[in-house]
Amino acid sequence: MDISVVIPLYNEEESLPELASWIERVMDANGFTYEILFIDDGSTDRSLDVIKKLAAANGNIHAVSFSRNYGKSPALNTGFRRAKGDVVITMDADLQDSPDEIPELYRMITKEGYDLVSGWKKKRYDPLSKTIPTKLFNATARAVSGIKNLHDFNCGLKAYRNAVIKHIEVYGDMHRYIPYLAKNAGYHKIGEKVVHHQARKYGHTKFGLDRFVNGYLDLGTLWFQSKFGVKPMHIFGLLGSLMFIIGFFAVLVVLVLKIIAINSDTYHFYVTNSVYFYLSLAAMIMGLQFFLSGFIGELITRNSPERNNYLIAEEL
Ligand code: UDP
Ligand code: MG
Repeated sequence: MDISVVIPLYNEEESLPELASWIERVMDANGFTYEILFIDDGSTDRSLDVIKKLAAANGNIHAVSFSRNYGKSPALNTGFRRAKGDVVITMDADLQDSPDEIPELYRMITKEGYDLVSGWKKKRYDPLSKTIPTKLFNATARAVSGIKNLHDFNCGLKAYRNAVIKHIEVYGDMHRYIPYLAKNAGYHKIGEKVVHHQARKYGHTKFGLDRFVNGYLDLGTLWFQSKFGVKPMHIFGLLGSLMFIIGFFAVLVVLVLKIIAINSDTYHFYVTNSVYFYLSLAAMIMGLQFFLSGFIGELITRNSPERNNYLIAEEL
């Protein structure tokens, strides 16, 4: 099979028939063998009924329906586990992404050898409240992930070589960082294609402003995992040692000041009057906490079933 189209959706009943027939048109025109995987993320409208009708009319359409709304990442992950096509394409269900991009995305993966091609909504039809924070967000994501050539990490329209999606796990809200997940799994050939974007035709957006807060927190988590995920002591031990060194010198200063004070009768000196006393206390306590976090982190990684999972590219 050439292509799997994975489509996460949550309450998008109006868009689905139009989307399905558009994809069918593109696939037939190009002679692709394909499947469309609708992942109904616990819709409360008639989306599932609509999908059932579409599937009855076209054997290439399959669907999974969650018992409740889990989120876009779990939906994508579920689709990825099932996708059989050589190239896997994800797109939003709201008709904001155009199926006309599919042939070129397919060509970039199969002919130009990309592992992942991400869409870039260069001209966006979204409100300003969304586009401006998104620019900032993308700049941070580029810097943290080291994927310098991507302008639009969170674009719903992306294409992957099948192996890529089988080797990454998208969970929580990590769909915003799939290119980073792919890079961490060793897939470095990540490209970009400018794609057409349309204003939402039906329904409304499912993500509010909290997306930016969560997005940044997730980026921090991913960065930490990729740097220190299997060796937490390397960072916590370093921070802990730094704190202990600061604390040690602060104690020395307090001691010296006290000795000087004892030897000179004119000067009454209490260690609790010295800023170094408090500095040493704080530094020692923080240092101990860093070390404890490091030890607990090490114990957790030691017990993780993933600790010795390596992705093997080739074996001779
Ligand atoms: N979506 C989903 N589960 C959710 C939220 C969204 O499957 O909990 C789907 C949604 O139906 C759409 C895609 O994810 O197909 C992108 O969502 P949306 O269009 O609301 O995001 P935006 O374009 O505003 O960033
Ligand atoms: Mg949308």
